Amino acid sequence: MKDKAIIMDIDGVLADSQEYIDKYLRNVKEKDYDSFWNSVPKHEVFDWSRNLVENYHNVGHKIVMLTARQDIPIARENTLKWFYKNNIHCDMLLMQPPRDVEEKNELYSHGLIKIDMYNKLIKPHYDIEFMVDDSPDNVKMFREIGLTVLQPNNKWDLK
Ligand SMILES: [Mg+2]
Repeated sequence: MKDKAIIMDIDGVLADSQEYIDKYLRNVKEKDYDSFWNSVPKHEVFDWSRNLVENYHNVGHKIVMLTARQDIPIARENTLKWFYKNNIHCDMLLMQPPRDVEEKNELYSHGLIKIDMYNKLIKPHYDIEFMVDDSPDNVKMFREIGLTVLQPNNKWDLK
C-alpha cells in the first residue's frame, strides 16, 4: 500500500512571497532570479498552511512540496533552510528543472511541467489526499486529472 500524502505549493501557499515575486520576477524588464532566491529567508509564513502541514504530518501523512522554484543549489538550499527555520515539515521537495532546461522543454510552454512531475515522481509512490496550490491554471489542470485541489484566495494579476 502506498503512503498517504498531501501536496503543497510553496509561493502563495506556505510562503508569503508575493512582494518579492512582484519586485524581481513579475512585470519587470529582466527577471532577477538571484535576488529572489536571496530574498527567501525574508519570506513570511502563512500560519494556516503551516498548521495544515503540521497536523497532516502528525497523523502520518507524507508532505510533498511541489514548486515552480527552480532546482538549482541556491534555491534548494535557501528553501530547505527556510523550512527548517520556520518549523515546516517536508518529506520531499520537488522543484522544476532550471531555466536553461526549462526554455527548451515543450512541457513548460504549455504549463504542464507540474502535472508531468506529479505523474512521474509523486503518483507512483503516494496516495494523494489533496493538494494546495494558488495558481488558477494549476488548480484547473490538477482538478481535470481528478485531484482535489484547495486554493487560497490570492490575488492573481494576470496581465
Ligand atoms: Mg504558488
